[in-house]
Formats: sequence, C-alpha cells, structure tokens
Amino acid sequence: MVRKFFVGGNFKMNGDHASLMKIVENLNTSNFAEDVEVVIAPPAIYLDFVRKSVRKEIEVAAQNAYKVSKGAYTGEISPEMLKDLNIGWVILGHSERRTIFNESDELIASKISHALEVGIKVIACIGERLEEREAGVTNDVVTKQLVAISQKVKDWTNVVIAYEPVWAIGTGKVATPEQAQEVHNYIRNWLIKNVSEETSLNTRIIYGGSVTGGNSSGLAQKLDIDGFLVGGASLKPEFVTIINSRA
Ligand code: PEP
Repeated sequence: MVRKFFVGGNFKMNGDHASLMKIVENLNTSNFAEDVEVVIAPPAIYLDFVRKSVRKEIEVAAQNAYKVSKGAYTGEISPEMLKDLNIGWVILGHSERRTIFNESDELIASKISHALEVGIKVIACIGERLEEREAGVTNDVVTKQLVAISQKVKDWTNVVIAYEPVWAIGTGKVATPEQAQEVHNYIRNWLIKNVSEETSLNTRIIYGGSVTGGNSSGLAQKLDIDGFLVGGASLKPEFVTIINSRA
C-alpha cells in the first residue's frame, strides 16, 4: 500500500508540564512499527516544550490556527508562528471547534488553505452528528464539508482527512470497522470524482472516535482506514498499542 499509516494524538485541553513530560518519555522510549507516521497535538501553550522534548521522528501538531498571518486577532495563533517553532502540522475543523466555537465550513476551509500555503500540513476533520446518521444523511454531510474544503484547496498532498463521526468522539461508542470503512470508501470515491484519482489513491483517510488499544487493530485492517486520530487514549500508554495496530 502506498499510503503510510498515520496516527495522531489530540490531547485537547489536557496536560501540564509534568503529565506531558510523562507522555513524551513514554513515546520516546517505545518501539513503533516501521511504517507509521506519528503526530501529537498538545495544547498550544505547550507546543514548544513538547517539540523540544519529543524525539525527532514524532511530529507535533497544533490543535488550531487562524486564517491569516498576523494582526488584531486576540487569542489566535497563525500557521506562520507554528512554522517559527518547527511545528509541522495543525488539526483543523475538529467537531469541538465546529460545535463549541461555531466554526463554519467556510472558515475552516480558509484556515486549511492558509496553513497549506505557509507549508503547515493539515489534519482536516469531518463527520456527521448522531441525528444526521440516524436521518441517513451521513454522506451528504461529509460531502458538504469536503466541497467547502475543495473550493479553497486544490492540492491535497499535505492533507490528511480525519473522518470523525461526532457521536463517537469521547463517548466510548466507536464506529464498527464496517461503518467506518463504508464512509472512508465514500470519501475515497468522492476524491476520485471531484479531485483526482491520484489524490484519492494517495490521501490518508484516518478514523477518529473512541479509538482504544482494544479496538484499533480491527479498524486498521480495513482497506480505506489509513490510521487514526485519537483523543482520550492518546494521553495513556495504550496510545503505543494504537500506533502499532497494523504491526
Ligand atoms: C478526537 O478528539 O479527535 C477524538 C477522536 O477523541 P476520542 O478518541 O476521545 O473519541
């Protein structure tokens, strides 16, 4: 398979110096399978500390970044600032940003486009809410989110798509491998039809939502699941089991 397995850890608004150092020390001393890319996303205030403490092969992501380089945007950080700190990745469009902070598809697409222009790689999150799944409109929701991105992004080389059904995030209700594969396959076909066959073949589509060391290997066997975005379990030693779930 051409696509390198990808595992991201989204620490959300958790951790302090001491607990993050423990996580980093565990990652620094653990063995990873050969063909896996690992990216961890601590809170913004700890990005520099984590970048300087974690071993080089592990990449670091911000959990958010704004759509312009600088200016009067109190509380925001820019992709240019991430670059300045040697942070290579950013998570954009996470459902918590969409829901709690009212981020629109359009704002998210602008943020993705600006980060890519600056050279920051993007984990772009999409996914349906429970009522949308129950109403049978999962593919429509995902399509709308993808269309918004594709209107501003032409080159998807540095984008990883995270399919994260909102009903599975932080709930302990993981999608079954079949449920996840079905949507991943839909996304892959959408990329063929709307971007290009090459993009579809090369773009990692990762799954997020209550992934644990106990359920990751079943999900990882599926053809169109190229890795995971992990929340809660990325703060625990079992994150290493998830990283190695294809091994
Ligand atoms: C996430 O926050 O992206 C996530 C998938 O969280 P959890 O693994 O805790 O469901």
